[in-house]
Amino acid sequence: MNDYIVRATALDGKLRAFVCITTELVRELSDRHGCLALASAALGRTATMGAMMGVMLKGEETLSLQVRGDGPLGKIIVTADAEAHVTGYIENPRVELPPREGGAYGDVEKLDVGAGVGEGFLLVIKDLGMKEPYTGSVPLHNGEIAEDFVHYFAQSEQTPSALALGVLVDKDQSVKAAGGFLIQLLPGVTEEDIDYLEQQLSKFPHITSLLVQGLTPEDILKRLIPGEIKFLETYPVAFTCDCSRDRFERGLLSLGASEIRSILTEEKQAELVCHFCNEKYHFEEAHLQELLEQAEAK
Ligand SMILES: [Zn+2]
Repeated sequence: MNDYIVRATALDGKLRAFVCITTELVRELSDRHGCLALASAALGRTATMGAMMGVMLKGEETLSLQVRGDGPLGKIIVTADAEAHVTGYIENPRVELPPREGGAYGDVEKLDVGAGVGEGFLLVIKDLGMKEPYTGSVPLHNGEIAEDFVHYFAQSEQTPSALALGVLVDKDQSVKAAGGFLIQLLPGVTEEDIDYLEQQLSKFPHITSLLVQGLTPEDILKRLIPGEIKFLETYPVAFTCDCSRDRFERGLLSLGASEIRSILTEEKQAELVCHFCNEKYHFEEAHLQELLEQAEAK
């Protein structure tokens, strides 16, 4: 099954849902960064969230999700756009921690992502084409990523949400399945609906176990939500890095004249590596000299 997201509504429009399969995306990210199981889970969950939040954007809008914990995994950054083009980075991809109490290695629910991420903040930065990007920030709830985003939606966007993000890693460290769902309750929803949903969610199997069984996002949603579901749209999900030479040139310029001057004196060249895809961009001395002149003219 290729990666995709399905968007749907139910309960007469009082509930909106996104369900996705992101196995290929998470596999690609894991391979590019050489992630071990714990990092695959942490980065993969964040990337899955990025894909679903991405398709809530419009047109040229983009977003960046930043999990800034003090745990050994370091920071996690995911960017996404409205077409579910997603890329991501994790600072320490090869961290290993003992599984949670009673857990077997590689069992996704037992990977101690919370301990790997630690305490800190979750930032959501949306570039909506305005002068200033929108930035929302909440303290990390437990570093397990899904709960952290539930708190973000409640605090920053005042939307009660149910969220599952799953990455199943095999014994050989390969990503076996990944996906997630986000269910948001909109104004008008009744207490009864909420109770029913909470009950469904409390006994719902882990999403990756359903994906491994071959269930589609549509099947999963049908199991989760009562009554008629209106499937509105599907979006393919893809790993895409939008880095470019231009972007790195602007990045160099933004360092300012004195910083560029010191690179010129010390290194006489610059090699910049995209965190997200490991592409290398080389800048020769003459090019840096030009950039210095531009920076000085500012
Ligand atoms: Zn890149």
